[in-house]
Amino acid sequence: MNFCTRCVMPDTKPGVVLDERGLCNACRSQEFKQNINWKHRRQALEKIVADVKTRSESLYDCVVPVSGGKNSWYQAWVMAKEFDMKVLCVCLGAHLPTTEGIHNLNQMIKDLNIDLIKVTLKPSVYKKIRRRCFVRQGEPNWAEHCAVFSSVVNVAQIYGVQLIVWGEDIAIEFGGAQHQKSTADAIDINHNDLLKDKDIHDWLENDISERDVFFYKYPDYESLSTSGIKSIYLGHFDNWDGREHYNFVQKRGFHSRKGGPLSGNYIDYDNIDEKLCEINIWMKYIKFGFWRATDQCCYDIWNGRLDRNEAVDIVNRLQDEFPKEYLDDFLRFHDLTEKEFWQTVEKFRNKEIWQKLSGKWQLQYRPSKHLTSSG
Ligand SMILES: [Zn+2]
Repeated sequence: MNFCTRCVMPDTKPGVVLDERGLCNACRSQEFKQNINWKHRRQALEKIVADVKTRSESLYDCVVPVSGGKNSWYQAWVMAKEFDMKVLCVCLGAHLPTTEGIHNLNQMIKDLNIDLIKVTLKPSVYKKIRRRCFVRQGEPNWAEHCAVFSSVVNVAQIYGVQLIVWGEDIAIEFGGAQHQKSTADAIDINHNDLLKDKDIHDWLENDISERDVFFYKYPDYESLSTSGIKSIYLGHFDNWDGREHYNFVQKRGFHSRKGGPLSGNYIDYDNIDEKLCEINIWMKYIKFGFWRATDQCCYDIWNGRLDRNEAVDIVNRLQDEFPKEYLDDFLRFHDLTEKEFWQTVEKFRNKEIWQKLSGKWQLQYRPSKHLTSSG
């Protein structure tokens, strides 16, 4: 396990390759981003918008997937206010929303004065699929990630909307296993690091009917092409910066987490809309030896707000914390006992980076202020 010499991302993250300078994929993306002519990219977006407005016969010009978080609020604002498009927001409803999450989504719709469709997945099926994703893959939120992409595209197709505007391309923005080249086109967004080329059929057994999983199924590319649907990443056209988006929406009534950062977090506004996500993210700690603190510190390093040495201190101070806040909710929702939960966690513990010392699991590799691999 080696760490990027500019940020603190380890090469245990799937797809991360440190180059000869010791830089990770996301740090290389940042260098690339500095040379982008954003004015040209903006003009390209203006052209797409003008084309869609000319040929759109739908009630809406574009669909924007939203959660009420900082990025989607900003996305919807750009399309509705800057480009004066008739926006249809589509939200995959949280099953265990937080008070802040409910407020933020409501406030966003009020602030932008636009329409929202909320897709809420059938609870019994969603719970079963999440549970399987946790027990078999250590990744309960696979179910949600699958449904987010598919439900949004299905709604666009049903309503005949010609343009879908996603946020950032996660492989480019955060560095991952999929393609390394930034493109505008997001039609194949269902092939990404979150879904790992699995589809909903990988999780079905006789107890779930094909008719129960419509919103998990991504439309085939041919039908999307016939429908003339264009799908783009706004992050390809706009110099994406989550922290700037946070500052932007905060002035418009966005609430960060009232109780301050969750365990293991260094900021208080990351994925705060629902309660089931945190343990999913924490599983990265078990599998790859890093989670929230590393992700959040790296993001601030990439965007020039944090010094690497400060990040090393923050990561080493926070990453051993367990997301205890939502454990009970997590167990109840998935009908798991605490014993079953920990047995599942242990199934996924990466023994190459964890060692049991005096009866306690210890992570063997930590970022250090010396710019060599630590361990
Ligand atoms: Zn890096």
